[in-house]
Amino acid sequence: MAVRFRKSAGGDRAASETAVASLGLGQHVTFEELLDVVSQAHGKPIEIREIDNSAIPAVTGLWIEKEKKSIILVPSGDNRLHRTHAACHEFGHILLRHQGCGGVETANPSVFQHIGSRKGIKRMLARSLDWNETERAAEHVAYLLSLALLPKEPASPSDFERTFL
Ligand SMILES: [Zn+2]
Repeated sequence: MAVRFRKSAGGDRAASETAVASLGLGQHVTFEELLDVVSQAHGKPIEIREIDNSAIPAVTGLWIEKEKKSIILVPSGDNRLHRTHAACHEFGHILLRHQGCGGVETANPSVFQHIGSRKGIKRMLARSLDWNETERAAEHVAYLLSLALLPKEPASPSDFERTFL
């Protein structure tokens, strides 16, 4: 399910802004640089994997935290911009240290074909299952991160492409 960023007043926005500010991002970062910075803030590597759309229907991104690393699944069928946004949204959950939604048991079993086994999964958080404050806060982080990812000057399409996954 596609969700659109909506403005909401409240403390969740302040928390999102603090989380992004604490990364100390420069004027313009590439996606790889952003991934690196978020991994460091997270304290473990973050791996981004493309996954068949049918494995996670109605979900545009999925964060799975394991003991030694986190995995973000993004649908391979979506375009680059959507995948980048989905990844940034999951970065939001990571940076805001959101708790998992307990979806490990209810998830489509085919998800686990892509990540090995469900052993060692500490938490799992899907995007867009529920549009609530947690989602809004993560979406606000995604919005702020996307600003850092955008070039300040109009760049050639190929430069712009390289910014993304
Ligand atoms: Zn989410």
